[in-house]
Amino acid sequence: MPTFRTLDDLGDVTGKVALVRVDFNLPMQDGAVTDDTRVRAAVPTILELADKGAKVLLLAHFGRPKGERVSTQSLSMVVNPVSAVLGREVMFVPEIAGDVVKQSIGILGNGGIAILENSRFWKGEEKNDPELAKAVAANADFYVNDAFSAAHRAHMTTEGLAHLLPAYAGRSMQAELEALEKALGNPVRPVAAVVGGAKVSSKLDVLTHLVTQVDHLIIGGGMANTFLAANDVDVGKSLCEHDLADTVRGILAAADSSGCTVHLPYDVVVSKEFAANPPSLRTCNVHEVAADEMILDVGPQATEALADVLKTCRTLVWNGPLGAFETEPFDTATVALARTAAALTKEGSLVSVAGGGDTVAALNHAGVAGDFSYVSTAGGAFLEWMEGKELPGVAALQI
Ligand code: ADP
Ligand code: MG
Repeated sequence: MPTFRTLDDLGDVTGKVALVRVDFNLPMQDGAVTDDTRVRAAVPTILELADKGAKVLLLAHFGRPKGERVSTQSLSMVVNPVSAVLGREVMFVPEIAGDVVKQSIGILGNGGIAILENSRFWKGEEKNDPELAKAVAANADFYVNDAFSAAHRAHMTTEGLAHLLPAYAGRSMQAELEALEKALGNPVRPVAAVVGGAKVSSKLDVLTHLVTQVDHLIIGGGMANTFLAANDVDVGKSLCEHDLADTVRGILAAADSSGCTVHLPYDVVVSKEFAANPPSLRTCNVHEVAADEMILDVGPQATEALADVLKTCRTLVWNGPLGAFETEPFDTATVALARTAAALTKEGSLVSVAGGGDTVAALNHAGVAGDFSYVSTAGGAFLEWMEGKELPGVAALQI
């Protein structure tokens, strides 16, 4: 595994100034934070540094102000909610560099915590401008990155700063990297991947990379329809990318030559209309889908067979639901397989790592997110990692 420094490698930080990159791009409605998961993820790092006596300056982006000061996107809005989660006083600094920051550091006591302004108010953030990085670094002694979710971007606060100051992975970044290493970097075999969701086109690079990495590739969701259609199955009016048939055949051929077994559903849940518990709901073999029906979930027999596959595996990486899980009963296969994975994880026979916006929602819906070994909320960064790409924010931490 590529090595990086963690907070364990810090010496005495009493009175030292830490620049800590966090993800405070919080979902908000009418000025109130609707989900504070990202704040809670940053708590261990912030409190550990503060309790060791460092002066903690939090850096983050919020929204897309595109290099302008946009008052509705000021990070001053998150000061109270962050303070409430931390249980500490939090100062707000309306700059990221210069004298105002310097003076604020002078006021902060050892162990004090401040949030700096939205880094994207400066054009140099997204351009990863070395001059801006220098100005920001000038006020600090070391840099900690605790925002894996922003690590797929080579920005000033995610990448540039790591080259100018001693750089460390925060606890949340460390946990994410360790989980990802166990899932795909250096996994215990056999390894299974579940890839579901709406479209093949949004996950082409994921599929192409995974067939070279895993022993079993389980395809579900709308993208299974595209795979079935490429195998000359008539999928009726299912969501399907017919133009990707050749691409899919290429992925299947690559899987074959890598010794990766691809699992497609052989029974499916179909209906004529997309609605909750529709009257036309039925389960059938994939070869019996009528022209006016659409496939909305993996069928019960295939789900049982997939559970049996997981029982033979030691590692699982999961992105994408197996069906249109937001609408009942098309959540059935996803919920059942997620519960199997959770039970195997609890027994200690499976390391299970999952990620993706809808995937996390589906696991929460199944009530098993807490039973997986690790659930990543990182979205784009998680997907790029599943594509086998090097993330600039992670690469910059490597020693
Ligand atoms: P993630 O956000 O976890 O990466 P995706 O965004 O790729 O997942 O896919 C999730 C979406 O795929 C969900 O909205 C779900 O309803 C949809 N989906 C899954 N199966 C089907 C299907 N058979 N037909 C249509 N949509 C589907
Ligand atoms: Mg999604």
